[in-house]
Amino acid sequence: MPQRSTRQTSAATMPAERYDAIVIGAGINGMYQLIRLRGLGLSVRVFDAAGDVGGTWYWNRYPGCRFDSESYTYIYSFSQELLDEWDWEELFSAQPDTLRYCQYVADKFDLRRDIQFNSRVRSARFDEAKDQWAIETEDGRKARCRYFITAVGPLSTPVMPKIEGIDSFEGESYHTGLWPHEPVDFKGKRVAVIGTGASAVQLIPVVAEAAKHLTVFQRRPNWCAPLHNGPIDAEEMKRIRARYREIFAKCRESEGGFMRVADPRKAVEVSPEEREALFERLYETPGFAIWLSNFRDTFTDETANKIITAFIARKIRERVRDPDVAEKLIPKDHGFGTRRVPMESGYYETYNRDNVKLVSLLETPIERITPKGLRVGGIDYEFDIIVYATGFDAMLGSYNRIDIRGIGGKSLKEKWAEGPRTFLGVQMADFPNLMMVIGPHTGASFCNMPRCGEENVDFVTDLIRFTEQKGYTRVQPRPEAESAWTNHVVQIADKLLITKTDSWFTGINRNIEARDKRMVLLYAGGAPRYRSKCEEVVAGGYADFQFS
Ligand SMILES: Cc1cc2nc3c(=O)[nH]c(=O)nc-3n(C[C@H](O)[C@H](O)[C@H](O)COP(=O)(O)OP(=O)(O)OC[C@H]3O[C@@H](n4cnc5c(N)ncnc54)[C@H](O)[C@@H]3O)c2cc1C
Repeated sequence: MPQRSTRQTSAATMPAERYDAIVIGAGINGMYQLIRLRGLGLSVRVFDAAGDVGGTWYWNRYPGCRFDSESYTYIYSFSQELLDEWDWEELFSAQPDTLRYCQYVADKFDLRRDIQFNSRVRSARFDEAKDQWAIETEDGRKARCRYFITAVGPLSTPVMPKIEGIDSFEGESYHTGLWPHEPVDFKGKRVAVIGTGASAVQLIPVVAEAAKHLTVFQRRPNWCAPLHNGPIDAEEMKRIRARYREIFAKCRESEGGFMRVADPRKAVEVSPEEREALFERLYETPGFAIWLSNFRDTFTDETANKIITAFIARKIRERVRDPDVAEKLIPKDHGFGTRRVPMESGYYETYNRDNVKLVSLLETPIERITPKGLRVGGIDYEFDIIVYATGFDAMLGSYNRIDIRGIGGKSLKEKWAEGPRTFLGVQMADFPNLMMVIGPHTGASFCNMPRCGEENVDFVTDLIRFTEQKGYTRVQPRPEAESAWTNHVVQIADKLLITKTDSWFTGINRNIEARDKRMVLLYAGGAPRYRSKCEEVVAGGYADFQFS
């Protein structure tokens, strides 16, 4: 502790460092942004609260954590050499492998020399007199730059539930998004998992294998579907490598940057036999096929959605032996695919084990955490370990944690109080030279990340290059361009059932104060349409922006 305070004092008294650009975040997008800005010849500093590169794959080390994207689609495409060198071992890579990939990229391109780790940025203020951003980290370090780029991640602010007595627990407790670097030993332990979202669904089958007993506390069930992971051997990797360009081209066609495009038919227009045949085939296909390759009306038409929903409910009933447990696992408040679909490997069968119990919090909410465990519905449960799989303050969390102030001291948090207002999810009026990568309202808000992330970073880089080449020191969107884009994002959202359901897609988070009103956080128009809009803006000579 004394060491830390010494460091704080010295950092706080140091003069501000100066860079052309500062990037927050050294995840998959921040790393690529660093590479591209170096290419412009700019001096760049990246700050990350983490101890190394990787972002999501640095923090989420819980057992079972892995891709839902096909590994070979979740890879940078900018370097042929990198594509030639890297081998994936599984169809859906596990977190340690993905983190290794990020570290490999950092080594290959010598990225760490421009990254300041263990540094959380707490504030960023625009200096109108100098057209510079003044950044300050939590330990008092100061830095200034012309371009301030946030690659802070869509799912990077873990959220704990608000439960009385949470600090009183005497056993071990962990959040999936802040998992320790040392392995957690579940062997012979009584374990509680709170939450049944995408992380929990990956973790639960693995913990059940090791633990003496596992109790899962579920507030709202999710519709999950089988991942069908498998190994990639050397021959298969060779074939994948030969097809990379074709794979990326296919991803470019799809709404979400995946290898999946919707079936052009409508569920309501084909026979029950044809529907059943497609559903069965997709349910057996690895990855998001059942979600993203389904009939095209599945996520826009309530009748079509009810059909696939009934199919998935039937699958759950077939897989879970106890009918009461199966009913608890079947969502009743939303249709299949209208929230992010967690992909699972033996999740439903886990509830057939003698050492696993499901407690529905809809019937009996958690009253409090006690020194020995949890009190639920008047019953005291005792545990050695509690795992909080309670997710993230999605899209907004990492922005709200930084005090970002633009022209006239205007706060970004206040500007977004009723929901984000952006131009292309990249910039905001009154916040000049601040660029977001994978911010709310980009076509990449829910996308196979490197596919859309690379395009987003390229757009930001080109905008900076244009600004530099023209000799301007300030760039921001015209207020009318921001309004038009924001209105378009809101209007288009209305077409999808996803935006009519409470979830992190719509900004609802019952563990966070005042987040019970739906907002439009994602661009529902799909990646190809978003890309066309960006191309149109570039072709129009960036007329939607004001430069000075
Ligand atoms: C468990 C899990 C599984 C996922 N699986 C997939 C998948 O299969 N496919 C897919 O496409 N996407 C997946 N995602 C989404 C994932 O977040 C993205 O794929 C991708 O990692 C985002 O990269 P990023 O660089 O934008 O952000 P991140 O990887 O989140 O990195 C952001 C970084 O910014 C840092 N940061 C934030 N705020 C500050 C601050 N104030 N100061 C300093 N540093 C800060 C964080 O520490 C973090 O390291 C998954 C997410 C999770 C949580």
